[in-house]
Amino acid sequence: MRTQVGILGAGPAGLLLAHLLHLRGIDSVVLERQTREYIEKRVRAGLLEQGTVDLLASVGLADRLLRQRLVHHGLELLFDGVGHRIPMTELTGRELTIYAQHELIKDLVAARLGTGRPLLFEAPATDLADLGSTPVIKFVHNGQPGELHCDLIAGCDGFHGISRLSIPDGAVTAYDLEYPFAWLGILAQAPPSAEELIYSAHDDGFSLHSMRSPDITRLYLQVGLEEKLEEWPDDRIWAELRTRLARRDGFELADGPILDRGITALRSHVVDPMRYGKLFLAGDSAHIVPPTGAKGLNLAVADVSVLAAAIGEWYRTGSETGLDAYSATCLRRVWRVQHFSWWMTTTLHRIPGSDPFTRALQLSQLRYLTTSSAAATSFAEMYVGLPLSKGD
Ligand SMILES: Cc1cc2nc3c(=O)[nH]c(=O)nc-3n(C[C@H](O)[C@H](O)[C@H](O)COP(=O)(O)OP(=O)(O)OC[C@H]3O[C@@H](n4cnc5c(N)ncnc54)[C@H](O)[C@@H]3O)c2cc1C
Repeated sequence: MRTQVGILGAGPAGLLLAHLLHLRGIDSVVLERQTREYIEKRVRAGLLEQGTVDLLASVGLADRLLRQRLVHHGLELLFDGVGHRIPMTELTGRELTIYAQHELIKDLVAARLGTGRPLLFEAPATDLADLGSTPVIKFVHNGQPGELHCDLIAGCDGFHGISRLSIPDGAVTAYDLEYPFAWLGILAQAPPSAEELIYSAHDDGFSLHSMRSPDITRLYLQVGLEEKLEEWPDDRIWAELRTRLARRDGFELADGPILDRGITALRSHVVDPMRYGKLFLAGDSAHIVPPTGAKGLNLAVADVSVLAAAIGEWYRTGSETGLDAYSATCLRRVWRVQHFSWWMTTTLHRIPGSDPFTRALQLSQLRYLTTSSAAATSFAEMYVGLPLSKGD
C-alpha cells in the first residue's frame, strides 16, 4: 500500500487529521488497533473548548454536536463547604461545550467513512521503518502482515502506541511527572445534580461532578494509587461522593446505575521535539496532561490543526517551514496547558503525606481565585482555552 500520509490511531487526533488533510486534497490511510465498536464506546473526555468546537464546525464536523451538546458558561469551585461560581463566559466571552468524546469519535468515523478513504480497524501498526527518508509502517490486518509506504507518518496512537517508542534513544527529551494519587471515574445513569461542573477540594480528597448529557452524570473521586476497583463497591462510591460534594446550604446528589467505571493514574508527560525525521507526533502520543483541566482532547485537536496546515503547505508549495516549526509551535501551547493542568491538580487534590502548611496554601489560593476578579479571569482564560491561532 502507498499513501501520502500514514496515520496511526483513530482517536480524535488521527481522525480529525485525516479529515483536515482530505479537505486539502491530501490522501491518507488511518490504521487503528481496536475495533470500530470499541473506539465508539470508549468513555473518556467530554469537555470541548470553544476553539475546538469552532474548528469542528468550520470543517463540517459539528452538526450533531451543535444539536446535542450542553453549553456551559461557568463552573463551581467547592471548598470549606461553600461553592463559588466562576463565570467563565462573563470573564472571557467564551463558552464551554459538554459532548462525550465517544460521540465525537462516532461523528469523526462517519465523516471518514463518508469520504471513502481507508480507515482500517483491527489493524495494529507493529513497526516503523526508514523514518529519516522513505517511511514505512508495518502493520497486521485480517491476520496478514502489510506495509504502508508514505511520505510522512502522523503518530496519533496515544500514550501506549508505538510511534513515540520508535524514536531512537536520545533523539528526543521526555519530561515526566507522576502524581501520588489516581482518579476513580464513574459514568452513571442519573441526571446531573447541578447545571455546571463542580470541582471540590475536600479535606478527604478531590472530587468532580460533571456530566455527558441530561441523563448521564460523570463523577470522579481522588483515590490512592494502589487502590483497586474491587475496594469500591457502589455504596462506598456514592457515600464518598456525597461527603466530598456536601455543602452547608445542602446538595442532593442524584444516583443511579453505574454504567462504566475505571481507575486512572494521573501523569504529566511531554516529548520534545514532537518530531523525528518524517514522523510527527500529535495528541497523547506526544503529551499527557492530568485530566483536572480537561485539556487532553483539546490539545490533540490543537496539534493536528497545526500539523494539517504544515503538511498542506508542504504539498502545495514544497516549503518545509511549517513542518520545521510544527513542534515548537505546538509545544508553546502544550507547556502553558501543562502548567495549568499541573496547577489545578496540585491545588485541588489532597497531597498524600503533605503538612498543614501545604493545605493552608491551597485554601489561600482558592480563596484568592474566588474573590479576585483578576485571578478568576486568568483562571477562566486558561480553562476556556487559548484561541487555536495563539499558542503562547
Ligand atoms: C482512561 C482515560 C480517561 C480520560 N479521561 C479524560 C477526561 O475525563 N477528560 C479529558 O479531558 N481527557 C481525558 N482523557 C484524555 C483524552 O481522552 C485524550 O487526551 C485524547 O483521547 C487524546 O486523543 P489522541 O487521539 O491523541 O489519543 P487516543 O484517543 O488515545 O487515540 C489513540 C488511538 O491509537 C490507537 N492505537 C494505539 N496503538 C496503536 C497501534 N500500534 N496501531 C494502530 N492504532 C493504535 C488506539 O487504540 C487509539 O484509538 C482520558 C484518557 C484516558 C486514557
